[in-house]
Amino acid sequence: MLSIINLNKYLLDLVLFLCFMKIPNDYFKHRKLVFVTQHQKHIAVFPVLEDKLECELVLCNQIDTNQFGSFSGEVKRLNDAYQTAVLKCDTAQQEFGFDLVLASEGSFGSHPSIPFLPSNQELLVLKDYKYNFTVSATFTSLETNFSAETISSMNGLEAFAQKVKFPSHALIFKDRKDQFREVHKGIDNQLELEKIFEPLLVKHRQAYIETDMRACYNPTRQKVIAQTAQKLLKQLYSICPKCCLPGFQVTSTQKGLKCSVCRFPTNSILCQEYVCQNCNYVLKSYYPNHQQFSDPMYCNFCNP
Ligand SMILES: [Zn+2]
Ligand SMILES: [Zn+2]
Repeated sequence: MLSIINLNKYLLDLVLFLCFMKIPNDYFKHRKLVFVTQHQKHIAVFPVLEDKLECELVLCNQIDTNQFGSFSGEVKRLNDAYQTAVLKCDTAQQEFGFDLVLASEGSFGSHPSIPFLPSNQELLVLKDYKYNFTVSATFTSLETNFSAETISSMNGLEAFAQKVKFPSHALIFKDRKDQFREVHKGIDNQLELEKIFEPLLVKHRQAYIETDMRACYNPTRQKVIAQTAQKLLKQLYSICPKCCLPGFQVTSTQKGLKCSVCRFPTNSILCQEYVCQNCNYVLKSYYPNHQQFSDPMYCNFCNP
C-alpha cells in the first residue's frame, strides 16, 4: 500500500519535472512584450528577461500611469496593487492593441510579518491577451529607504538626507503632511534641496520631507524590482500540467520529512503545494529535494 502511494508521488514528481522542462518560449517567441512604465522600471526588468523569453522587449511610456495613483499623494490609488497593475495592462491593450503586456506596482509600509520595519513590496503582472492568461509575481524586501518626517532645522534636514541615501536617492518636499498645497518632487542635489527648504522654513517654520519612491529616483527600489522580475521569470517557466499555461507556482510548503535514523518528522520540507494562477489546479509535490528522508542533523530527537 505504502509503496503504491510512493510510486504515485514519484509519478507526480516526474510529471512535474517534465512540465518544468518544457520551455514556455512557444508562448513568447518572436512576439512583442510591452512594459508599461513611466519611471524607467524597464532598466531593472529588461536585463532579467532579455535572452530568456526570445521576444522583443518594448518600453511603453505613453500611458500616464500616475492616473492610477501616485506615491506622493496627489492621486490616491483606488484599487489594490494587483488590480492597478492589471488596469495598466488593459489600458495598453485597449489604447495601442498590444497583446502581451507587463505592468508593475510597488507598495511601501510595515513588513507584513515584521511590524514597524519598513518594507517594499513589488508586483509584476504579465497579461497575455492572445493566449488568455495572466502571471504575476510579488516580492517583499526589507531593503528600502522608505521614510518621511516633519523637519524644522537644517540639522534635521541633513540627518534625514543622510539616513535615506540622498543624493543617490531623491527626495520630496511638501509644506505639510496632509492637505499640502506645495509639493516638490525628484530633488536630487544639495543646492536644490536647500533652495526649496529655506523658503518653506521661513513661511511655515517646518516642512514635510519624504523619500521619492518612483523607481527612476530610487536605485534601491530598482534592485527590488529586478528581484521581482527574477521571480516572474521563474513563474513563466513553470507550466501547469493541467492547462499547460505558465504560472504554476509554489504557494506553500509543508515540513515533516522523516529522519533517516529515528523516522520522526523533522523540520525539513516534506512537500510543496503548487497552484496554477490560471486554472487553479492544485498539486502537492513530495520530496522537493529528491530525498525521502532527512539527515539526522536536522532532527530534533537525534540532534537536539
Ligand atoms: Zn492551469
Ligand atoms: Zn532522528
